[in-house]
Amino acid sequence: KDEFISMASHELKTPITSIKLYTELLLKRVKDKEALQHLGSMFEQVNRVSKLIGDLLDVSRIQAGKLFFKMQFFDLGLLINDIALVFGKETKKHAITTSVHLSEKVWGDKDRIGQVIINLISNAIKYSPSGGDIIVVASKLKDNVIVSIEDFGIGMYVHEKDRIFERFYQGRGTLFPGLGIGLYIAKMIVEGHGGRIEVKSRINEGSTFTFT
Ligand code: ADP
Repeated sequence: KDEFISMASHELKTPITSIKLYTELLLKRVKDKEALQHLGSMFEQVNRVSKLIGDLLDVSRIQAGKLFFKMQFFDLGLLINDIALVFGKETKKHAITTSVHLSEKVWGDKDRIGQVIINLISNAIKYSPSGGDIIVVASKLKDNVIVSIEDFGIGMYVHEKDRIFERFYQGRGTLFPGLGIGLYIAKMIVEGHGGRIEVKSRINEGSTFTFT
């Protein structure tokens, strides 16, 4: 199965990248309103497929021990606010607030840490289908930085909580779109930085994911 995922995701990457580029090109050239609307939907779907393939490629990289980090000092607060802003524009039902208490830059792979935050915020949105607040907090804890993402959604049963970071595991997430690998990748990225990721959750009340 691992070998198949690795082969399939590599083979799918090139054609999907060119479909994405051509769609972008058409979006710039086409003037017809209706066609533009269809192209817009097409771009959205292509991006979804492209993200799924990216996640599968990451799983293969992790399995092969080839998940490498480009370490640098970066402004984590700025990254959090930028990501929250993008999600804020995409969702109408949720109010995303950020509270950043950091005065120094952090040492890490900016894109990969961004990927963790994106995964956690998009899960918070996905698993609170009735909407509500999503609260992101970042603060310093001794020599570490601690980031938490809280939602007031469907929450989790204890037996789910114990397994959600496993590869391909989906709890009640099977009722939603997804492959069950987002949290596995997030955990591997956080642990690759020497950090920890955990969750506190109550069924039907919400969940708080925290990582250092
Ligand atoms: P996916 O969302 O594709 O199923 P993930 O690895 O991101 O995969 O999450 C694994 C499982 O953890 C989900 O299927 C869901 O059951 C549960 N889960 C993740 N985030 C949340 C959340 N914020 N609230 C409730 N359940 C969650």
